[in-house]
Amino acid sequence: MLRLIPIISRALILILATAGSLFAQNDPEWTEPFPPFRIAGNLYYVGSKGLANYLITTPQGNILINSDLEANVPLIQASIEKFGFKFKDTKILLISHAHWDHDAGSAKIKELTGASYMVMDADVPVVESGGKADFQYGNRPEFLYPPAKVDRVLHDSDEVKLGGAVLVAHLTAGHTKGCTTWTMKVTEGGKTYNVVIVGSPNVNQGYKLVHNDAYPQIASDYLRLFDTLKVLPCDIFLGAHGGYFGLEEKYAHRKDGAANPFVDPDGYRKFVAEKEQEFRTELAKQTLAAK
Ligand SMILES: [Zn+2]
Repeated sequence: MLRLIPIISRALILILATAGSLFAQNDPEWTEPFPPFRIAGNLYYVGSKGLANYLITTPQGNILINSDLEANVPLIQASIEKFGFKFKDTKILLISHAHWDHDAGSAKIKELTGASYMVMDADVPVVESGGKADFQYGNRPEFLYPPAKVDRVLHDSDEVKLGGAVLVAHLTAGHTKGCTTWTMKVTEGGKTYNVVIVGSPNVNQGYKLVHNDAYPQIASDYLRLFDTLKVLPCDIFLGAHGGYFGLEEKYAHRKDGAANPFVDPDGYRKFVAEKEQEFRTELAKQTLAAK
């Protein structure tokens, strides 16, 4: 009996670890509907509570950022149609980065809309292999998804243009090799605002920042990411998850005639500084442990 205890506890740890990863894949907020709303100008929020999607409308069709989990696709479609826009008018599909919570629905959205899929160069092998080429999660079946063919390969600072809208793709690698921060300008009430949609500055659980054979330059990429984010002009602060920029609180504070709560340059600078500090602390810890 005594000899069985370590076996049982090892089995329990395995069960708990598996349950943990399943939970990570299915955070209930990711598929929880959120009211779609116009952020400013021709820029709309059409995401769920936990996964952000943005629609940029133009006279020549629309641009959609992120496809989320496959289960989110009907939610995104319903949000777009709530404004009277047509899902089929989605001409271009972009992503924040090649992780399942932002790109697993891409194949489905391409099939339903015929949108042209444009992805940052280093994320292309990941989306086209359905996640198998990812340096961290490639051998984790629970994080794989239907592969989607990329129609245009983007490079750092490339522009995506449609019907007068111009989005700039900033390579902000580290979280994934092709993680992308999108910027654009929107006009509202005669004023022009700089919009920043942050790709992700997070160091996930289990990421190796030193001696990472699958991603040797990961630490220097993160450092470059923070250098890039620090100099981007930002009025309207957005990101791949609502949690980055306080979606729920800001949504609750929208009021006709009052200042737009999504205009938050200070919140952006604070977020970037905090995330850089988190990264540097983790890097120092891992560097020390590797000695
Ligand atoms: Zn991610």
